Amino acid sequence: MNDDRLEDAQDSRGGRPVQLSVVVPVFNERDNIDQLHDRLDGALRPRGRTYELLFIDDGSTDDSFDKLEALHERDPAVRVVRFVRNFGQQKAVAAGLRYARGDVVVLIDADLQTLPEEIPKLTDKLAEGYDIVYGIRERREDPLLRKLGSWCMSHLLYRMTGIDVPDSASGFIALDRRFVDSINLFNEKSSYFSGLFAWLSYGRWAAVPVSHQARQAGRSNYTIPKLIGLALNFVCNFSEMPLRFATYLGGGFVILGTLGLIACLAAHVLASAPSWAGLWALAAAMALFSGVQLLAIGVVGEYLGRVYTEVKQRPAFVVRDILDHGGD
Ligand code: UDP
Ligand code: MG
Repeated sequence: MNDDRLEDAQDSRGGRPVQLSVVVPVFNERDNIDQLHDRLDGALRPRGRTYELLFIDDGSTDDSFDKLEALHERDPAVRVVRFVRNFGQQKAVAAGLRYARGDVVVLIDADLQTLPEEIPKLTDKLAEGYDIVYGIRERREDPLLRKLGSWCMSHLLYRMTGIDVPDSASGFIALDRRFVDSINLFNEKSSYFSGLFAWLSYGRWAAVPVSHQARQAGRSNYTIPKLIGLALNFVCNFSEMPLRFATYLGGGFVILGTLGLIACLAAHVLASAPSWAGLWALAAAMALFSGVQLLAIGVVGEYLGRVYTEVKQRPAFVVRDILDHGGD
């Protein structure tokens, strides 16, 4: 998003000031929306703070948007931003952070895996003066393979980037307005918010335990390729280690190859060529070296692809409709 668009988005906060924005990314969540709204309403209304419920419809192909539209007609606290197509949860979060007007912004998934009733836990902790408060899942109710994958990823990523994203942290997060404004200054297209949050809130974050339930309806929108894509985004956005690793690997093999060549020459000169130096050994060595080269090219490609995405200057997301009682 360029500066003008950023200003537009920031202007959209100009309407009524609210104390709390709850941002919900929505992709094909038709069976969860009504219950989610009832429970958000039940949890927030009695607390007497002004709030808005900002739903980002990430190009749903079911009738999620119709349901959101109906909610918007019934409840003045509901705002809806609808994308022209599916851009992914990260972009929905990006839009939510830009359009939210609240002094405090809470991110929560639409699938009711985390409980709207626990929002006050997060906001109370935030009021102690943190930039960001994570809801940490006490017992994560996801399939075993998914949990194992997350655990391995967060440890590997920590080693590679030095950024500690708690692996049990859910998408249930409360953020302070100043922190949201800082996040909105970042214009990266291939964004990975958990990494960005952890990187920027260095030392000024807290975590509170929250309960976690199995998905209420529908199924997870995350497939294995999507998760691998997210992990790659995290590594490539925060670390140049893979590039350096490719250089080291290349250097290592150059040294090895040179030594091998010297050894072969020496053996030839001494007329005692060993029998293992046959065709198979050569073929295996070639396969290994071309593999390493392809790997290194692939690593460069990952970064080049990201540079390409950034220089194209396409907007991170495109909005089709905005439903807002407030004013913009
Ligand atoms: N989501 C989205 N766009 C996508 C995929 C997911 O906005 O392309 C939303 C989804 O509707 C939900 C949240 O992101 O509110 C988390 O998605 P999901 O429950 O599928 O992820 P998981 O809980 O498996 O991590
Ligand atoms: Mg979920």
